Amino acid sequence: MNLSILTRDFRIYDNELLQSDTIPVFIYDEYNQQEHGMNLKSIFFKYVYEFNNKLKHYGKELIVIRYEELDSFIMKVKPNTIYYSLDPEPRNRDRFENLKELQRKYKFKLIPVWQFPTPPSEWKFSSFTHFYRTAFNRSAHPKIYNVDEVLSSLGTVEWENKIDIETIYRGYRVSEIEEKYYKDEYKIVNDLKDFLERVDYERDRDYPAKEGTSKISIYLRVGAISHRTAMYIAKNNNRFISEIAWSDFYRLLLWNFPNIVDQEWNPKWRNVRWSRDQNLFEAWKNGETGIDIVDAGMKQLSREGWMHNRLRMIAASFLTKNLKIDWRLGERYFYSKLVDADLAQNVGNWQWVAGCGTDTVYFRVFNPLIQERKFDPNREYITRYLEFSRPKPIVNLDQSREEYLDWIKSQLK
Ligand SMILES: Cc1cc2nc3c(=O)[nH]c(=O)nc-3n(C[C@H](O)[C@H](O)[C@H](O)COP(=O)(O)OP(=O)(O)OC[C@H]3O[C@@H](n4cnc5c(N)ncnc54)[C@H](O)[C@@H]3O)c2cc1C
Repeated sequence: MNLSILTRDFRIYDNELLQSDTIPVFIYDEYNQQEHGMNLKSIFFKYVYEFNNKLKHYGKELIVIRYEELDSFIMKVKPNTIYYSLDPEPRNRDRFENLKELQRKYKFKLIPVWQFPTPPSEWKFSSFTHFYRTAFNRSAHPKIYNVDEVLSSLGTVEWENKIDIETIYRGYRVSEIEEKYYKDEYKIVNDLKDFLERVDYERDRDYPAKEGTSKISIYLRVGAISHRTAMYIAKNNNRFISEIAWSDFYRLLLWNFPNIVDQEWNPKWRNVRWSRDQNLFEAWKNGETGIDIVDAGMKQLSREGWMHNRLRMIAASFLTKNLKIDWRLGERYFYSKLVDADLAQNVGNWQWVAGCGTDTVYFRVFNPLIQERKFDPNREYITRYLEFSRPKPIVNLDQSREEYLDWIKSQLK
């Protein structure tokens, strides 16, 4: 018998971890869960729970074990092979290292499975464009198989300490998040097809009041759809595919530079003395900066666990540039709230906006007023989230921009 350890692969289509005579396993890692926000946990465990329900139709189940019991579980099952779903997150890699140690003890074959378009390799890219042109695996294809056959041939095992996934799911459930975002695997695929046929993505993707983006990041995060399938559906939509490529790029960036989770990618930035002003940070978090487009985005984030990409850029730029606050604080806050919170994407993008990541420059400062005029000209988005009475701006935008530029130049000397 073999084991397949799933991490963020809760789908029945295009899933290399579903194989005959192989028991699907999820390792419940309490420590790892503490790092995640409630919104992510709510949607994540809903998908784990529903995935298990699908297996039950075939008389199978997802065995959920505690991380601390991995050793005794392996001792009992005596697997020939363990397939492990690898991703770049440090905790996932720690678990893989732990498995390597257990491999020495129990002599099973350990096969890492990387279910993303481009496999990891040594970092040799100077920029995203370089990666996109030379390495991005655009032709990654979904694997086609007979779902009934595969699911009915999965392995099972009796494990007396197994955790009841329904209890975990109910413990983390945030009903508004589940109601707003949960949809079945078939619907995710159909909605993406429909979105890409109906919407002019290239034209509309920057306008937060429109339905100009797919929201597929939520489902990619939990693995309810694979990147391969999303790319297959997008076919020749080059802009959409290039956005998926950005996520591939940031995944490999984190894989090759795990320290970027809390250290600037660009060494020149590592001695920058960022502000940690609590009052300004609280005003930003609560959407009370007095800058409408920033506040609308932050209100949407705290109410819905979601923010449009354009708003994420504007809010992050305002925090790190106009307020000179440490990007790590903003990154942690976004991570705690976003329903699509993903370490590689969040860190990569925060560092890009702050100026210390790849493909970026220190002097790009988004002017929220110009952004508003351009991307929300009728204030349709803003008025959805803001009340009539508004606080006074906590900073003067022009002055804080000039101060930031002088300050950062002196910091980078
Ligand atoms: C400060 C900041 C923090 C972010 N944090 C996250 C995060 O935690 N999780 C996350 O998935 N994305 C994050 N992003 C990237 C981006 O905002 C989201 O991927 C996007 O908003 C998801 O919406 P969508 O699926 O409707 O995008 P679409 O426009 O429909 O794009 C399709 C897919 O392309 C990929 N993509 C699009 N834009 C980006 C980008 N800038 N970087 C990487 N991949 C991209 C995503 O997989 C996305 O689902 C962040 C961006 C910023 C500026």
